[in-house]
Amino acid sequence: MTPALAIRNVSHSYGARQALEDVSFCVPPGSFTVLLGLNGAGKSTLFSLITRLYAARHGEIDIFGHNVMREPGAALRRLGVVFQARTLDLELSVMQNLIYHAALHGIGPIEAHRLAQAALARAGLADRAKDKARALSGGQMRRVEIARALLHDPRLVLLDEPTVGLDIKARADLLALVRGLVRDEGLGVLWATHLIDEIADDDQVVILHHGKVLAADNARTIVAERGAANISDAFTRITGAGEEKLSA
Ligand code: ADP
Ligand code: MG
Repeated sequence: MTPALAIRNVSHSYGARQALEDVSFCVPPGSFTVLLGLNGAGKSTLFSLITRLYAARHGEIDIFGHNVMREPGAALRRLGVVFQARTLDLELSVMQNLIYHAALHGIGPIEAHRLAQAALARAGLADRAKDKARALSGGQMRRVEIARALLHDPRLVLLDEPTVGLDIKARADLLALVRGLVRDEGLGVLWATHLIDEIADDDQVVILHHGKVLAADNARTIVAERGAANISDAFTRITGAGEEKLSA
């Protein structure tokens, strides 16, 4: 089966500082895959390479079998992204934010409106289209960004620390929304986080530490193979880092 995302031997340096070193892993289609790493592990750098913000000079990145450097159109068409930094225009309405994004993709206004309505419904925000983005809660703003990422109906969505800064209820709601898209629509998701309590037993987990992949497997398997009590304990054994950095 062709992976939703295949990363092979990817390295990246900022000047003398190596942020990623020989990173390889796959996101299976229809899976919820967690990219787990402390601040500075290299998660956002990897997202920048997948989305071609930076050119990957070492290694290969394929999205559903399409190489992001050689076939960027076919690869990026299948990809939606929610970046770490918030990127809504707060003075525009929810709908205007989505239409503006659609225009950047060359989608005309009538089609954009139809796609935006559908995406907002999938994100549980069908009734907020006319509201100014500024009027929304932090969790709702994130859901608008998810709707925007879903607009062109990608089969793989990357989310970079989407729950940071949200309260416990909003975090749980956002996680449930994205898990629902995986379960009900077969969406493939790569969810970057440093918050270990967001991991469920059946998730795929990639542990990224100081730019290196130290484990990539089903969460249950990672725990069992280390003889650990839980995924938090496994992370500590694998990385030698303290657990205190893994909670909100
Ligand atoms: P994470 O998203 O996991 O917190 P990042 O990918 O942001 O990690 O950072 C990985 C490493 O690369 C860190 O050491 C960080 O300081 C460094 N880094 C990130 N962006 C830049 C940049 N634009 N210039 C120089 N160093 C950077
Ligand atoms: Mg980051």
